Amino acid sequence: MTITTDIAIIGGGLSGALMAICAEAHGFTACVIDAQPSHLQNFDDFDGRSYAMAHTSVRVLKALGLWQHLEQTAQPILDIKISNGGISETPSPFLLHFDHQDLEEGPMGHMVEDRILRPLLQEHLKQRDRIIYLDETEVIEHNSEQASSGLILKGQKTTVTAQLVIAADGRKSALASSAGITYSGWDYAQTSLVCALEHEKPHRGIAYQHFMPPGPLAILPLKNNRASIVWTETKDNAKTIMGLDADAYLDVLRPRFGDFLGDIRLAGKRFAFPLEMSIAKSLVANRLALVGDAAHGMHPIAGQGLNAGLRDIAALTQIIHDAKQRGEDFGSTAVLNRYQEWRRFDATALPLALDGFNRLFSNHNQFLQDMRALGIGIVNQFPGLKRHLMREAAGLSGELPELMR
Ligand SMILES: Cc1cc2nc3c(=O)[nH]c(=O)nc-3n(C[C@H](O)[C@H](O)[C@H](O)COP(=O)(O)OP(=O)(O)OC[C@H]3O[C@@H](n4cnc5c(N)ncnc54)[C@H](O)[C@@H]3O)c2cc1C
Repeated sequence: MTITTDIAIIGGGLSGALMAICAEAHGFTACVIDAQPSHLQNFDDFDGRSYAMAHTSVRVLKALGLWQHLEQTAQPILDIKISNGGISETPSPFLLHFDHQDLEEGPMGHMVEDRILRPLLQEHLKQRDRIIYLDETEVIEHNSEQASSGLILKGQKTTVTAQLVIAADGRKSALASSAGITYSGWDYAQTSLVCALEHEKPHRGIAYQHFMPPGPLAILPLKNNRASIVWTETKDNAKTIMGLDADAYLDVLRPRFGDFLGDIRLAGKRFAFPLEMSIAKSLVANRLALVGDAAHGMHPIAGQGLNAGLRDIAALTQIIHDAKQRGEDFGSTAVLNRYQEWRRFDATALPLALDGFNRLFSNHNQFLQDMRALGIGIVNQFPGLKRHLMREAAGLSGELPELMR
């Protein structure tokens, strides 16, 4: 049997699912193929992350009719406070304060919990008329021909033929590699520890970032006096901390966290994400385009990975939709090169900028410590610069795809 579709998307994680929903909403048929069973993504403990969704990402979710299902449980990020500290030191007073009232668009973004976003996307993949969703299915071969691409599925007689294949199969995409695309990047020798916490005092919608030599600790506000933490440590430290029981884990966290939110308790399971950077050297190949982490795996220091993936999705959808309207072959090299030109700079510059931040902030070097104090002082002195950084965090700068405007 052959499934014939406009677009085949490899990977039904957040990027693949959002790509399919977006393409379907623009009149394309799509087949999403994911190696994992769909029901796994519906468990509360599948992935403990919560995502800081930038203002422009929220606009995309609204345009796709998804935001109405997320709004009630999403926590607006009103302000961001940044501080500097040493290991086991209570964080220094906040050095930098970004206030949402300086931004006419409103909150810089919203915190959305994975355990709410992921099942919603899975449900839409199954409900939407023009989407076929094959879970527990692995792509093992990809052949591009002049007018279409064919996909061979592991252990199955079914093949998939599409005018365009989209790789959304995560960092160092096997599909991209099979099409000759190589990656640059490195292992950070850092791991992010992630969990949700309950705390005594209200966070008032403020996100906190404490910079410490082994890595940053982000405290991100969630609904109902809860916070999601992204606590980055060296790989060895992280391994030891993950091996502790819940009480001992909190004992290590408390001095780093501080007591400004009162007492803290775990509100769910603990997770660990080893960090690496991987930047695809090309975003396209013959009848193939890369989106999400398959295009750019970056440090979570500023919570930008999924936001960047949504920019890819919005830009690619706009380009192929416009091409189709004009009667062009939307999977052709000429059309895909427009996507490459649009997203190339951002897909490389953003991971590199975040890498620079991580190097500047995650170390004991006195010279770099002086430089960051100087840098923070400069940002505080110039309201224009501060506002520019806030617009960057909200995703409002650069050439925005229509869905983000
Ligand atoms: C600690 C941490 C915190 C973060 N916080 C934020 C944040 O606040 N804001 C933000 O914007 N981003 C954040 N990110 C980044 C964000 O989590 C990622 O960018 C996003 O989850 C990537 O999703 P993806 O779908 O591109 O890739 P993945 O989640 O890796 O999904 C890839 C999918 O492809 C499937 N697959 C792989 N190979 C095959 C194959 N051969 N055949 C079929 N299927 C296949 C896999 O089963 C998987 O489902 C954070 C990241 C980390 C590590």
